[in-house]
Amino acid sequence: MKDKEVLSYLMDRYKKSNGKRKKMLYASILALRKRIPQKPKEQSEVLSIYNIYNCPCCEEGVGIYNIEREEWSYQNEYCPECGQHISWEGIDSE
Ligand SMILES: [Zn+2]
Repeated sequence: MKDKEVLSYLMDRYKKSNGKRKKMLYASILALRKRIPQKPKEQSEVLSIYNIYNCPCCEEGVGIYNIEREEWSYQNEYCPECGQHISWEGIDSE
């Protein structure tokens, strides 16, 4: 079973539950979400020679691309702060 399928199952259960069970499902949903790669947010108001990318969950920096040198200063696969899996698909080719 894929993570996304499990997630939609948990979400469905979550909507129908309450009390302690609901809290436990919520914690599971948050943990599972971090495993599913999400695109980083691009920061706009920055020095023009850099593209800065932040975690979509907690805003921690997850990557810096140097436009002038055309290379990544760093590019994390996981957020160092919250552990969110980051998807870089299609970003370095822009
Ligand atoms: Zn994060």
